[in-house]
Amino acid sequence: MKKVLLTLLLPLLVTAAAAGPLDQLRRGLPLPAAPEPAQSSAAVSHLAGDDRYWVTVSADDKYDRTALLRAGLDIVEIEKGFVSGFIPRGALEQLAAKGFMVRSRLPIADYAAGHLRDFPAADAVYHNYSETEAELRALAAANPGEASLFSLGKTTEGREIWCLRLNNAEKGEAPSARPAVFFMGNHHGREHLTNEVALALARHLLANKADPAISKYLGTLDIYIAPLTNPDGAEYDIRTGKYRWHRKNTRINADRSVGVDLNRNYDSLWCTAGASQYPPADTYCGPYAFSEPETRAIRDFVLARPNLKTLMSYHSYSSLLLYPWAGRDEDVSDARDRKVFETMARAMGALTAYRPQRASDLYVAAGDTGDWAYSARGIFAFTAELDGSTFYPGAAMIERASAKNIKAALYLLGVSDDPYKLAR
Ligand SMILES: [Zn+2]
Repeated sequence: MKKVLLTLLLPLLVTAAAAGPLDQLRRGLPLPAAPEPAQSSAAVSHLAGDDRYWVTVSADDKYDRTALLRAGLDIVEIEKGFVSGFIPRGALEQLAAKGFMVRSRLPIADYAAGHLRDFPAADAVYHNYSETEAELRALAAANPGEASLFSLGKTTEGREIWCLRLNNAEKGEAPSARPAVFFMGNHHGREHLTNEVALALARHLLANKADPAISKYLGTLDIYIAPLTNPDGAEYDIRTGKYRWHRKNTRINADRSVGVDLNRNYDSLWCTAGASQYPPADTYCGPYAFSEPETRAIRDFVLARPNLKTLMSYHSYSSLLLYPWAGRDEDVSDARDRKVFETMARAMGALTAYRPQRASDLYVAAGDTGDWAYSARGIFAFTAELDGSTFYPGAAMIERASAKNIKAALYLLGVSDDPYKLAR
């Protein structure tokens, strides 16, 4: 409680007094030693060696936010006039010199002490890598007429990126001429809820395969669901039995920091905006586009399937429904495509109560899945930022987020035979 209060009050205190750490930050002086966590419990001791801070920084508009991403801030929450998120100490020390005003900062361990709502034991219902694999295998085994399982490729650590295919005639990796839809989850390790939503969608479609609408989709579409596209990052996040707020994959960078942001690693205006070239940053774009085995696996899968019409990449959290462009501060130029994007986003927004918007209206961030899929293959690609106000919303959120996103997914399936019918 004390910590939470401090976080809330600090901006006010700083504004009033303009002294102390902020002043030192402004002058580029070394930061004072991190304060001792008030309740340094065993619960967050695993974060003791993690040098990231949770910071709140003034940011008036999306241009400020875009510049902050480049400066190494991983923007997690956006409010009027400021943003909050994670930043490595090395990048934090540069913020003042770059003209940003840091309103408050907390070492990640202190932040975690105040924000861990559910520990993994309480979240046992969430699926880790092996449980996800087992669930997908079970779904395929129980529904041999409609489902098959294959891997998109191997991760940095050699795990498989499993993909469930729902199609009543074609199985495995064999290509298809049917209109195809691709659902993905967990690009970011700590976004475990997205894996659950994708799994729930797969379960729902197969449990209701006799439903006339779903039966029609299984008979006319080619549906792919890859719930865990960054299994290394997801496992790293829970490996100690306590959440680590890990976003990236687990590549070991040249400076020994861990991970590349997979959702900044696609080859669409790669690293030109809203991404960091500082390896410890949570938005590190990697050494070059498609440097990571995970993004290459998705690239190869998509390029080999010109039948893909639509794509949904689940992320968390913010209750948003985003569409291109993310990496340039513009609408997609093709008026017909724009109408399709806007119509789909509005419809899915209504079904989820998520706000539909062009991704770059949030901030400009290049190299994400949606921009690349649209620019490379004309796929109507969306990013859903699921419900909640934390990466770890607890077990109860699974059903709530899944129910509404299944509705949106059914809508997407219903228009994927010919998305352009929405523009006629
Ligand atoms: Zn994400």
